[in-house]
This record gives sequence, structure tokens and C-alpha cells, in this order.
Amino acid sequence: MDKQTLSFQAEVKQILHLVTHSLYSNKEIFLRELVSNASDACDKLRFEALDKAALYEDAPNLEIRVWYDEAAKTITIRDNGIGMSAEEAVAHLGTIAKSGTREFMAKLEGDQKKDANLIGQFGVGFYSGFIVADRITVETRRAGAAPAEAVRWSSEGAGDFEVETIERAQRGTDVILHLREGEEEFLSAWKLKSIISKYSDHISLPVLMPKQTWDDEKKEQVTTDEWEPVNKAAALWTRSKSDITDAQYQEFYKQISYDQDAPLAYTHNRVEGRTEYTQLLYVPARAPFDLWNRDKRGGVKLYVKRVFIMDDAEALMPVYLRFVKGVIDSADLPLNVSRELLQESRDVKAIREGCTKRVLSMLEDVAENQKDKYAAFWTQFGAVLKEGIGEDHANQERLAKLLRFASTTADEGVGFEDYVKRMKEGQEAIYYITADTLAAAKNSPQLEIFRKKGLEVLLLTDRVDEWMLSHLYEFDGKPLQSVAKGGVDLGKLQDDDEKKAAEATAEALKPLIERLKATLKDRAKDVRVTTRLVDSPACIVVDEGDMSGHLARMLKQAGQSAPRSQPTLEINAEHALVKRLDSAEGSERFDDLAHILFDQALLAEGGQLDDPAAYVRRVNALLTA
Ligand code: ADP
Ligand code: MG
Repeated sequence: MDKQTLSFQAEVKQILHLVTHSLYSNKEIFLRELVSNASDACDKLRFEALDKAALYEDAPNLEIRVWYDEAAKTITIRDNGIGMSAEEAVAHLGTIAKSGTREFMAKLEGDQKKDANLIGQFGVGFYSGFIVADRITVETRRAGAAPAEAVRWSSEGAGDFEVETIERAQRGTDVILHLREGEEEFLSAWKLKSIISKYSDHISLPVLMPKQTWDDEKKEQVTTDEWEPVNKAAALWTRSKSDITDAQYQEFYKQISYDQDAPLAYTHNRVEGRTEYTQLLYVPARAPFDLWNRDKRGGVKLYVKRVFIMDDAEALMPVYLRFVKGVIDSADLPLNVSRELLQESRDVKAIREGCTKRVLSMLEDVAENQKDKYAAFWTQFGAVLKEGIGEDHANQERLAKLLRFASTTADEGVGFEDYVKRMKEGQEAIYYITADTLAAAKNSPQLEIFRKKGLEVLLLTDRVDEWMLSHLYEFDGKPLQSVAKGGVDLGKLQDDDEKKAAEATAEALKPLIERLKATLKDRAKDVRVTTRLVDSPACIVVDEGDMSGHLARMLKQAGQSAPRSQPTLEINAEHALVKRLDSAEGSERFDDLAHILFDQALLAEGGQLDDPAAYVRRVNALLTA
């Protein structure tokens, strides 16, 4: 192929502009990104060579070399990994295949801190070379291709790049950075070494640099022909815990997660037994931008006997723990394991169970010993963890203990265990209410009797709460009971006098109730005297097995049909409006008052009126009467 000039994809141009202008304050990360690409390329070769050993040619030892040329002002990063064909070079270094590019750019533009970790997260690491270089040349030959089929790619990082065919004996890739004016500080063995050991110590391949020795005559360090490793070249998780510092664990986390914040917690173990594996798992402190995408693959990388197999091995973690990052290195799985095989493997099932338990222990530990940290975690990931209640029955009890809610006692951080400790003598159920917002929940008329009796009620306002509650019926042997469903049976909490009084009122109001039932027959399946209201005239209640108004509204919003059966209207015999209604019996105003009572009860629970205009007309008629 003769030399061709091709244009970068439009997104690449934008990325290049942003990267070179925004990340300047953190420019040393270019080396981390290029070494990481070199390491990925070696991983890919090792993987492809599993069933095609010839790809190793005569160089089975995979390694990365880094050197600089002071006169030419270049830095070269060389790997003997998989390399690229001409098509691959054009595709991988001229376009961005990954989704999320637009989010990346929006974030980079908006982010005041110019988060340099974002760059790796979005898979545009290669372009970071242009922060320090005004030209990058890539010379590469794909493993297995003939020397005459190598390719040179070159660009100034503006609008276009050139590609041409070259001869190249060496397999793999050289990335040659022609440094910009003013970037000479990187032409230093010490500088490059220190960046590599800061960011790339854990890379499992040796990163080699030319050995330096002291020249007595010149009175300075000179470069020799000998190469020496400048990193530990042992994958972090294979090292023994006692040899790894907290800082190293944190740095490794940054590398694999591209999260600039420290993780909330991590765990590192070698598991022996029926299936053998090493796990190094991190719980992030902050949610990623795409947490809500349930199709997003997990953040756990799978290795088999230290050979990298795949990123995002979702079979290793349940979906509700998709925020966990880390590495699992199995001693038992076959090296050629595929995603499909993973789904079926018994070893993988054991690994997933083991890892789930570990993560739950980590969270329990934080919840117990670092309450503030757990509260922050809960804000970020709580709603995701709730998915586990329905998805992971084996761990449901442990998960239930980790849940946190708002309640009528505290605006946040109430766990079931706290609630149970505060339960009143004679209280048998855990009471809750669901609503669209905290304010709506707090002001719900159904809470009145509970307030009066000093009973705590959990206020559930997350979208997933209703779904979660359809899987969770009790905690610690105590049933969960909605205060807006069924009749409130406060059981032992109500004394006999109260019960008798209520029965007497119900008896006295019988004619009114019958009249209301007839008037509202198209809207309410029943009307009864309430035991739950103190200050409000009426409220809407659904039967124990029926769908709550809150859930029906959510389904409707989501475009699903919500077969809502008619609710029950409960009226407060002590309220002035109800008394007025009673005395209006037989008058022409009765119907209007009855509908207003019902409409208001519906509005108070956050519902919408089917015919708002009729409501307004009725209220106005009363106001002007
Ligand atoms: P990412 O590494 O996240 O895919 P990069 O921008 O760092 O994104 O690299 C883009 C792509 O270019 C890589 O996915 C890979 O296909 C290719 N590439 C980059 N460097 C090398 C290399 N040293 N050897 C082989 N392929 C490479
Ligand atoms: Mg990369």
C-alpha cells in the first residue's frame, strides 16, 4: 500500500482537541496509557496463541521496552504483542468504536478538575500521546503477518493521519512520540522510570529500560546496551497481602476502575477448596455515570492462571453488584473459556457465590464500623443493592440488614435492625408507606394515627421500593405492613375503649356510609369509618393484595397498563367536613361534597384526578354558595 492520507472521524478530532487542551496539567498519564495499551496487546497475543502457538514466532517472551533519544527528541514504547494490520491501525487509531464518547466529551468539558482518569475509562488512551507529542509514529506488524505486511501510521494529531506499508521484522508495535517544544523534561531515564513505577508497577509483564551507569570520566549517568526491568512485573493480586501497601492497592484500583476517588473498601483473598481462585475486589465510593444501565457488563476482569481472559466477565458477579471492580484469577477454569461456557460452569457458580459473600461482608463491615462512609455509599448505590432483594434469595436476609430508609423518626439511615429495636411494646409489624417523594410520604394522612401513637413508619420513595417489597415480606420474623393497605389493625396497640368507641361511631354513621357508597359507586368499592385518621377528613386505602396507587402511577408513567382495582374510601367521623356531610344528607349539595371528599383523598396520596375540571367546578360552587 502506498502512502495514503486519511481523515480522522469527527469525534476523534474533538477528542484530540479536548485531550490535548484539557489534560495538560496531568500530562504524564500519556505513558501510563501507552504502557497499558502495550500490555493489552501482549495479553491479546497470549490469548490468541492459546490455540495457535505459531503466533509467538521466535519470540515467546512478551515484554515492553521504553527508551528515549535525546538528539531526536523522541520517546519509544515498544511491545511484542499482537500488533495491528493496516485495516486495524486505520480503524483503531482513526475512529472511536466505543459508545459513550459523547458522555466523555460532555464530562471533560464540564469537569472542573479535568479528570485525567476519564480518558482511560472511555477508551481513548492512545490519543493522550498528543499531550506531549506533536507527531506520533506507529510502526506495527500483526502477529503471524509477513514482514512485508507491516504498516506505518503517522499523525500530527490535527485533522488527518497517514498510513503506508513498510517492512518490519519485529512483531508487535512501536509507538514513537516526537516531543513538542518544551517537553524535554521527559527525555530523562529517571523521569520515565518514576512515572512507570508510579502507574505501571503492577503490569504483569516486564517493562524494560536501558540500564544506566555512572561514567567516571564524563561525570554523569550514561546509557548502556543492557536492558533492565523497571517494574515488579508481578500482577498485584498474585503477590502476598503482606507485601502490598495500601497505596499500591489504591493505585491498582485507579488503574482498573479509572476512578479518581479512593475505593470505599477492598478485599484480597486466595480461596482454596473445591475450586481455587484469587479475588481482589473493590467497592467504589462513587457511582459511575452508567450505573443504571443494567446491560452494562460487570467491572470484574477474569484471569486464568495469570493469563488475561476477558474484561467485564458478568457471570462472576450478580447484576445487583455490577458496581464492584476487581480481578478474579482462577486456577481451575480452562484457558479457552468463553462467555457462554462461563454461564454454565459450576466453578464459576462457586466463584460468584464466594465473591458475593465477600462483597456483602465488606459492606457489613463498613455499615457496622464506619457509619458515615456507609451512608455515603448508600446514597450512591442503595437503589442498586435493593435489586438484590428480589434477585438473590439466598442472601436476602443479609441484604435486608444492609438496607437504609427514611422514616418518621429520621430522614435517612434507618435500617430494619434500628427499627426493630425501637418497636413499641405490643407492636407486631414493621410499618411502611410508599410515595413519590419524601414530602408526599411524610404528609400522608395515613400516618396520622401512627404519629399519634408514636409508632415509627418507614417512608419508601425509591422507584425500586415497590418492586423490592413484592419480594420481601418480613424482617426478623416481623411482617412488613403498608399503612395504606387493608384495615389498620393496630392489634394490642389499641385499647378496648378505643375499639368500642370506633364501633359505636361506625354504627351511628351507617346511613351516611350507605349514601356515600351509592354516590361514589363508580369510584370506590367500599366506604368505611377510619381507624387511621386524626386530622384529615378522608383517605384512600387499597386491599392487602391490591396494587398501591404509587405503583399504579409508576407503571403508567412507564407506559405499562396498570389494572387498578377500585380503592376504599375511609372517612374520619370526627372531622368537621364529615360532620357537615352528615347534616347535608338529603340536600342537593351532598353529591358535590361526597365527590370533593374523594377527590381530596386522592390528591393527598399523590394521585391525579381523572376529571380535574369537575373538581374545580364543585369546589367553586361551594365557595360561592
Ligand atoms: P483502549 O485501550 O481503551 O481500547 P486506546 O485509545 O488506548 O483505547 O487504544 C485504541 C485501540 O488501539 C486499542 O483498543 C487497540 O486496538 C489499538 N492499540 C493501541 N495500542 C496498541 C498496541 N500497542 N498494540 C496493538 N494495538 C494497539
Ligand atoms: Mg488503552
